[in-house]
Amino acid sequence: MKKRYWIMLSLLGLAALFWGLHHLKCYNIYINQKYVAAAFSKEEAEAAFRSARMQLYENEGRFMSDMDTRISAGIFGTDAVEGNELTQRIYTELEQMSDASPEDGCRIKIGNYRATLPDEESAKWVIRQAVLHYVNLAEEKKEENRTSCRIEQIKIHDALSIEPVSASDEEITSPEEALRGIIDEMDRLKYGISFDRITTSEVYYEEEPVYQETETLFDGESEVYREGTFGVKEITASERFVNGVSAYRSVWSEAVRTEAVPAIIYIGTREMPEYGWPVEKASITSGFGERWGAVHKGIDIGVPMGTSVKAARGGTVLRAERIGTYGNCVIIDHGDGQETRYAHLSGILVNAGDEVVKGQEIARSGNSGRTTGPHLHFEIRVDGEPIDPMRLLD
Ligand SMILES: [Zn+2]
Repeated sequence: MKKRYWIMLSLLGLAALFWGLHHLKCYNIYINQKYVAAAFSKEEAEAAFRSARMQLYENEGRFMSDMDTRISAGIFGTDAVEGNELTQRIYTELEQMSDASPEDGCRIKIGNYRATLPDEESAKWVIRQAVLHYVNLAEEKKEENRTSCRIEQIKIHDALSIEPVSASDEEITSPEEALRGIIDEMDRLKYGISFDRITTSEVYYEEEPVYQETETLFDGESEVYREGTFGVKEITASERFVNGVSAYRSVWSEAVRTEAVPAIIYIGTREMPEYGWPVEKASITSGFGERWGAVHKGIDIGVPMGTSVKAARGGTVLRAERIGTYGNCVIIDHGDGQETRYAHLSGILVNAGDEVVKGQEIARSGNSGRTTGPHLHFEIRVDGEPIDPMRLLD
C-alpha cells in the first residue's frame, strides 16, 4: 500500500512539474535583434505584433515594413505579459524605432523639383506612372497599318533620384501631386524618361513608272498604257522617344509582301507638225470621238454659211469634190502620212493636184452632205487614222 501511494505521489509531482514547465515556457519577441517583450504563446506574440503595427498606422499613418522580427521560444521567462500590455510594449518600441529610423519616407528629385513621398513604394509608383504618361504621349504618334508594337530600353535619366529620408521631418506630398511635379520638370528640362518603340507596319509603296517611246504620239504627248498598282512592304523600325517626343528612328528590316507593279507610260516621239485653225477660232459644237454609238472622225466648228475656209497646213490637194455624207469636201495630203479634210462646204476654191500653203483660202463653209445645220467638219488623219484635231490646234 505504501509503495503504491508513493508511486501515485510521484506521478502527480511529475505532472505538476510538467504543467509548471509548460507555463514557464515563454516566447521572446525581437525586433531588429533587440529584445522587446515576451509572450506566453507564439500565437499571442504574433497577434500582438500585428495589432501594434496596425495601431501605429492608424495613429500616425506610418507603416513599418522594413524590419527584422523574430519570435523565439525560451523558458522561465519572468517577463512574459499578455493582452494589451504585450501590444503596448511592442507599440512603444515600434514608435521609437520609426522615429529614429531615417528611412521612412522617400525623397524624389529631378532638376529643381523635389518631393517627399510617404514611402519607397509610392515613389516607385510615381516613376512608373511617369513612364506610362510618356508611353501614352508617344502613342499619339501612331504609325498607320501597325501590326505589332513593343516598348524596350526604358531609361530613366540619372538626374532623377529617389533616396530614403526621415518622413517625420518632411512635408509629405501625395503621389498624384508628385507625379504632376516631376512631369512638369522633365518637360521643362527636356530629359527624363526615354525608351525605344519597336513597331512593325505594313506600308504601301510604288514602283517608278516605266517610260516607253512611241511613234503613235506626238512629241510632248504622253499616255498611260498601264496603271501601276501599289505593293505592300513590312517595315520593322525602332524609334527612340525622349519624354514622349520622337528623337530618331531607324529602320531595322524591310520585306516585300506584295510586289508593286510599275505603270507603263508611252512618250510620243513623232515630230509635232504645225497646224493652224481652218477658220477663225470658233466654238466646237461637236468634239472628236464616240458620239451616239459611232465614232466622230473630226470636230465640228460652228461657223455661219460662207465662212472662209483655209488650209490648216501646206500640201497637195488630193480631192476637191462631193464625197457622200461629207457633201462638198476638200482633202489635202501633207506628204508625211498626214492629211486634213474639210467637209459640208458650200463652195470649193481649189482643184485636185493644186499645191496649197498654210492659211491659203481653199473653200467656203456650208451645209452640204449629212448635217443638222451649217458648220465646218474638220479632220486630221495620221497614216489613215483620224486623230483628235484638238491635239494639234492651239
Ligand atoms: Zn462632223
